[in-house]
Amino acid sequence: MLERYTLPEMGKLWSPEHRFEKWLDLEVLACEAWADLGRVPAAAVREIRERARFDVGRIAEIEAVTRHDVIAFVSCVAENVGDAGKYLHLGLTSYDIVDTALSLLMRDALDIILKALDDLRELLADQAREYQNLPMIGRTHGVHAEPISLGLKFALWHAELGRARGRLEQARRGISVGRLSGVVGTYAHLDPYVENYVCRRAGLVPAKVSTQVLQRDRHAEYLAALAITAGSLEKFATEIRHLQRTEVLEAEEGFAAGQKGSSAMPHKRNPVNCERIAGLARVLRGNATAALENISLWHERDITHSSVERIIIPDSTTLLHYMIVQFTEVLRHLQIYPQQMERNLNRTHGLIFSQRLLLALVAKGLSREEAYVLVQRQAHRNWPEGDFMAALKADPAIGQYLKVDEIDALCDVRHYLDRTDYIFWRAGLGPAPVQYWESIAGLMTGQGKVVNVEKGDLLYEGKAKQMYLTTDPDLVWVSYKDEATAFDGLKKDVISGKGTLNNRISAHFFTLLEAAGIPTHFVKLLGSHEMLVKRVEIIPLEVIVRNIAAGSLAKRLGIEEGLVLVRPAVEFCYKNDDLHDPLVTEDQIIALGWADASRVQALRLLALEIDEILRSYLGTKNLVLVDFKLEFGIHRGDLILADEISPDTCRLWDKQTREKLDKDRFRRDLGGLISAYEEVWKRLSGGD
Ligand code: C5P
Repeated sequence: MLERYTLPEMGKLWSPEHRFEKWLDLEVLACEAWADLGRVPAAAVREIRERARFDVGRIAEIEAVTRHDVIAFVSCVAENVGDAGKYLHLGLTSYDIVDTALSLLMRDALDIILKALDDLRELLADQAREYQNLPMIGRTHGVHAEPISLGLKFALWHAELGRARGRLEQARRGISVGRLSGVVGTYAHLDPYVENYVCRRAGLVPAKVSTQVLQRDRHAEYLAALAITAGSLEKFATEIRHLQRTEVLEAEEGFAAGQKGSSAMPHKRNPVNCERIAGLARVLRGNATAALENISLWHERDITHSSVERIIIPDSTTLLHYMIVQFTEVLRHLQIYPQQMERNLNRTHGLIFSQRLLLALVAKGLSREEAYVLVQRQAHRNWPEGDFMAALKADPAIGQYLKVDEIDALCDVRHYLDRTDYIFWRAGLGPAPVQYWESIAGLMTGQGKVVNVEKGDLLYEGKAKQMYLTTDPDLVWVSYKDEATAFDGLKKDVISGKGTLNNRISAHFFTLLEAAGIPTHFVKLLGSHEMLVKRVEIIPLEVIVRNIAAGSLAKRLGIEEGLVLVRPAVEFCYKNDDLHDPLVTEDQIIALGWADASRVQALRLLALEIDEILRSYLGTKNLVLVDFKLEFGIHRGDLILADEISPDTCRLWDKQTREKLDKDRFRRDLGGLISAYEEVWKRLSGGD
């Protein structure tokens, strides 16, 4: 480990003292375990716990003779313990201790790295938001392509490091194992109890099967995860190095007071930190390769891996930690030059708008080929010298289709950033794009799908709906009833107009959800209280999402209604009227064979996505989405949203007054059900 690239925390973690401390902890735990089995007297364990210590210098002295580090360590500790020292290392082989301690150190090293990575991601999120709308040129092949924003680059990096985090967490799980299984992994002179005792107390899980060592696929996965993360940092650093090139100069590493760029050229400001990061990534890649080579050991172990690991594991963790911290500093002090970004955007005199111009010409009636030729002709004539935009405006072949002011309007950088809000939402960096969803939903509603079907026989009648077969076996005709029921049908009434409102509201929600990319069974509205939907094989589970405690949750747990949950909670109920739709856990669903783990996970994730979409959307309508129930079905092998979404199946409160605008008005005899549903519809539909 080079001191130059070692930050204090990581330096301390890999110090000999710290390593010996871990060895000692494990040796003492092993004695305690043996004492439980009656193989070591309790008094000896007490003595060991009190007196066991080591001295790094003394270990080195003994090692000079024994040429074996673990023997030297155990002898040194035994010297301090006295008589009870004979119980140290009982039945163990060196690697029982060394390998298990290495796992602990690797796990702890990752925790240091993960913390630094979180700090970097937080900064990237801030910077992404700050520069979300700062335009700059996007380049493909190093050549100007189309405008992007600086924030988008940062958002990309933020997402990439999110994936890095996932990989590192997986590597952490892979290495959080230990083994005390003896020289060939058979516990011939040990007891699995000792391994269990030591590993569990050290926060590790015993490896299911081991030899004299933990298998090195774990370490290889770990070093690969480090190297991939380093590769990402190298990519970011390389981007900054490019942006700092004199010809580009859109961003520059901060230059500290007193810093000097070159011993010979006083003007120099070089991206040295980014260059160092890019360079060190090469070391991590090399180390990952070495770790891959370590997987293949002879029989129950050879020692070819050990010398390699002495270098690559401390080095790669130390270097990655250093690189992350260093890159965080680079980003914090990054000089950003918007004027130069603008200059570069204008450098090609509008060439970067070629695709938009092409599409505008196509929209005016030209074939794609004709439009392409027209735009490319001026582009090539005016490259590398010339003024594309001026030539385009003066070109009569183009002038026939596009007027000068139309060309000016098309060549507007802002158009290219229109979708960044959407991307930022998806990346978890910005609010939900409600207006966008609404605009797509508007387009979908306007299209008026042509479906020619006729109503057939009654297929099923539920409490709130009737479903009819149609002449198309794939489609079902749904008729919403005016009936209101609660408490498993114990309370019943007919409320005129409810069916119509629920039909409209459901159609509205389904269209919005489709616009946001959620597959639903909705096809089209058929009339005031009827709609056409896809025929599905319904999954007999109600999926409930709660944002605020109310209803059965509040009652069952004695919680006051209105408590805002820390995060949305998903609940499953078994759809069965006779049993009153009882709550069922995810584990029970899987254990009963009703759905496999991936289906349950898919239901859960879809429900949470729907919650985010509806919650954000309803927020703009001054409505609070307290909770709601969903049902899903399988349509041609795909999971899709079915049933209805209406004030019958959601709790909706007015944002300011908290007035209930849902079926609770009926359940609790509050009256005014229809006017509440009408109010919801008025807000959703914008007043008609
Ligand atoms: O009654 P509970 O609090 O469990 O209801 C949670 C949410 O699920 C409410 O919005 C309720 O309207 C809805 N729900 C439903 N149909 C059921 C059970 C609950 O629509 N059978």
